[in-house]
Amino acid sequence: MKSLSLLPIFILTINLIIPEKISANNYCHQYSYPSGLKNTKNVKCDPLVLEPPLDLSVSLESNNVFTVDFHCGISDANLCQKAHDVFKSAGNRIASVIKFNTPVKVNATFTDFCKEFNQCPYDNQFLIGEASAAQFIPMKDSDRIVRYYPQALVKQLGNPNNAQYNDYDILAAFNSQANLYFKGDLPIGNEQYDFEYVVTHEYIHGLGFFPYWNDYGKNLLTPYPDFLAGVTSVNQEITFTGFVETVFDRYMVLTEPGKASQKMTQFVGEFNSIVPIGTTLKVSDFYSKYQNSQVFGLSEQLLKDAITPNTMSFVTSDNTSVLLETKINPYAPGSSICHVDTSYGNGSDFLMGFSAIPGISLDDLVAKNHGTSALGPNLIKVLGTLGYSINGQSNNQPNNIQKDNSSRSIKYSFSYNTIGVLVVIILWQII
Ligand SMILES: [Zn+2]
Repeated sequence: MKSLSLLPIFILTINLIIPEKISANNYCHQYSYPSGLKNTKNVKCDPLVLEPPLDLSVSLESNNVFTVDFHCGISDANLCQKAHDVFKSAGNRIASVIKFNTPVKVNATFTDFCKEFNQCPYDNQFLIGEASAAQFIPMKDSDRIVRYYPQALVKQLGNPNNAQYNDYDILAAFNSQANLYFKGDLPIGNEQYDFEYVVTHEYIHGLGFFPYWNDYGKNLLTPYPDFLAGVTSVNQEITFTGFVETVFDRYMVLTEPGKASQKMTQFVGEFNSIVPIGTTLKVSDFYSKYQNSQVFGLSEQLLKDAITPNTMSFVTSDNTSVLLETKINPYAPGSSICHVDTSYGNGSDFLMGFSAIPGISLDDLVAKNHGTSALGPNLIKVLGTLGYSINGQSNNQPNNIQKDNSSRSIKYSFSYNTIGVLVVIILWQII
């Protein structure tokens, strides 16, 4: 008997919801869940002023770290309750490894993606969960480059007294139609996915396992074209404010065969010299200049690298190279490079692979791989490098983050609110 095989995958969506032309002013872009883009508004942000670091010896009880605002979109109250419980237990797993001094607020949804968001199975793929930070905040790193930090991390590093935070730190949505296993159910079926595994994976994205490097629609790998957000016509004028990167990107390293390793962050400056920062010009004119620049060839090469095995890594503060996913061909936005390499699937760092592992519970996966938690040693190093404090380790605050007065915050939504990213993609495609 032939059965339809759907490959449940994790997809990291990068969707802009910046509705207005970028200006030199400081704006936070806020929206209220679940109405998403429909209620997007710009809110003036006062520049952040970082207080002296919090007392990092303060550590919340793990049970008090993740606070969850839960929305269940299905009528099965029992299933809703089971899902709700998992959001808490998945948070506890992370909080048993990472030391949090400030709670992490999660807006979690459990619903039928196809029915509610018209996000139905396609190409044998079935989306089981999505998540991102609810807000990214520009901060100046110790190398004086402004990068975007997930709100949850900003709070842990030293609470700016006048930050205008989003209500939530993490937005997460999960598909109730996935074949899910809940702890306490009968033994897990061969094609079932442990919901706690899925939620824990997505939480990690929300905490900052999140590159801005991506293919934004033209088979080119670029940092985030922030300046295109909200633009609706190629004839529209933009002010080129530069491509931007996240704190995760700071540690991404490219290793092309036969060449010395290069930090991906070094390329961003090249992207930002296509025209001088602050130049106002039409989108179509910008693209012409981009196409005629050396950076265009670089973008093409980087996309090739992103589908070539063993070319991109996250290098942690102790110089451990964690391979990122570059085996998917063609490049898959939301799966490629924002997960770890598939080779980690058979070890204790299985959690952040792009493809979910069926037929085994999260607890059994940890035991099978001789791990001590759902977060493997490499993943813990990644989170520590981003700036989180790790239980049992001396406090680390590696980046000496400085205030940035010239940038703005970016908020993210899920792929059912695709307007923002579609605008960017369509703009690129029609040029
Ligand atoms: Zn993922």
